[in-house]
Amino acid sequence: MNRREFLAAPLLAAPAFSAPAKERRYHVCLSSAALERNPELIDVVERAGVHTIWLTGFLYGHWYYQPAHIAAAARRIRKAGLQAEIAFVPLGHPGDSLGDKAGEPPLIPPPHWRQCVHADGSRHWGTSLHAPATAENAAAIARLNGMGFRTLFLDDDFRLATGPGQIGGCFCDDHWRRFSESHGYGAGAREQLIGDIQSRSLSPELRAWVEFHCSELTACFRQLQRARKGLTIGNMVMYLGAEKAGIRLNDYRGVPFRVGELMFSDREFDRLKGKTDELFSSLFHRRFTPPELAYSETTAFPADKLSASNMAAKFAVSTLADVRNTMMMSGLTPFPASHWQVLAPAMRSHAAIHAQVAGHAPAGPFKHYWGEHSRYVGDDKPYSLFLASGIPFEVCNALPSNGWAFLSDADAAAQPRSSGAELVTRRDTPETMEEIFALKHRLLPRLGATPFIEEEQPAVCAWYPTARRALVWNLSNEPRALTLRHENRRIPLRAAALELVAVPL
Ligand SMILES: [Zn+2]
Repeated sequence: MNRREFLAAPLLAAPAFSAPAKERRYHVCLSSAALERNPELIDVVERAGVHTIWLTGFLYGHWYYQPAHIAAAARRIRKAGLQAEIAFVPLGHPGDSLGDKAGEPPLIPPPHWRQCVHADGSRHWGTSLHAPATAENAAAIARLNGMGFRTLFLDDDFRLATGPGQIGGCFCDDHWRRFSESHGYGAGAREQLIGDIQSRSLSPELRAWVEFHCSELTACFRQLQRARKGLTIGNMVMYLGAEKAGIRLNDYRGVPFRVGELMFSDREFDRLKGKTDELFSSLFHRRFTPPELAYSETTAFPADKLSASNMAAKFAVSTLADVRNTMMMSGLTPFPASHWQVLAPAMRSHAAIHAQVAGHAPAGPFKHYWGEHSRYVGDDKPYSLFLASGIPFEVCNALPSNGWAFLSDADAAAQPRSSGAELVTRRDTPETMEEIFALKHRLLPRLGATPFIEEEQPAVCAWYPTARRALVWNLSNEPRALTLRHENRRIPLRAAALELVAVPL
């Protein structure tokens, strides 16, 4: 198989025995060391209703947790009746994204790995792909032999940009030579490309640069898939992660897929916009993965900086987006064990609500749209507050032909031709709840049979017409009395702070 055929070959499908989730399942990531220090934790999470514990595996060139300890932890987990699976941090994050309290795990790959080189010559460790990263990860996968793991997640360092909103890629001599030679670019191309990256203009050269890195990351993924038969590999895609970070989303259809989230602390999630951005990212990524293979990125970081009630509130993001697997994590330090007293009843409640809408798509006049320019050159700041309007929405793969589509600055700058929808941009309509409620007020007479929340209070109203249900998520940090209007009915609702309520219609 030559390189072109290799890249064109379909991804290996998930083996049937990995049993995609038909109903809501809960997962938690823990290290073998954390389970050794807190042996009771397995029973605590089992009683709370956790289905699978994901153990920390290979960390960017290091077996910081020894394979024998990982295997022993997996045996203890399975003895308690839970599934044990494994997560790698394959390339390394820029900075400390793992937050081990002891401060002992190395934060960067070993010295024989190589750094990413930025356009200005500065360097960083992690989120770049050079030999021997693929070979060492493949060898690490081979060492899992006999440990009984059926699924492995690559952490969201499996990308080629330092973080959300960055246009990634490596300008080291080797990468530049391979890129410019394969495209026949001459001496001036480098300056041109750097200028396009700085101005975020989607030129043919910038598109080629992004695709070049996407192909490299996908080729690595496929090589890791082939490293061990019977092991399904999943990708954890960072917040709004997409092509500009080397993640060609279409290449990861059909494998376990962790939708990207970001609001890891109370400081971030307490903001209304933090909640709508989080939901926006999850809804975007669900375009590329079926619900059964979708996993959340329900994260507390640092581990003690997200309250139990906010973590439980995040379950609503999975429920609304039909992400069947909620996967909790908090770096290498477990979040406080007392959280589980709050999480356990919320897990049961969300599973019951989720069952009422699983497999159904939300519909409505407000349109969730995230276009090519957002994916290739955007700053990952979505226009998301419309999700808090109390008016139903739907997720669009392309510009819709009706309704109101809310555009990011990158998609708006691309000057799309409207195909019938009204395009709402920040230039014309600042992204504030005052503006959103003013728009809501104007269009209420045109809503017809669409249900909506009457009050001007921040709430998500997701409408699943085929399930004859609406889900209302109170986004206030206080209890609220809300009214769901549907045709001639006015349905009074009481929702606790951040509570999700299912309403039969
Ligand atoms: Zn390089």
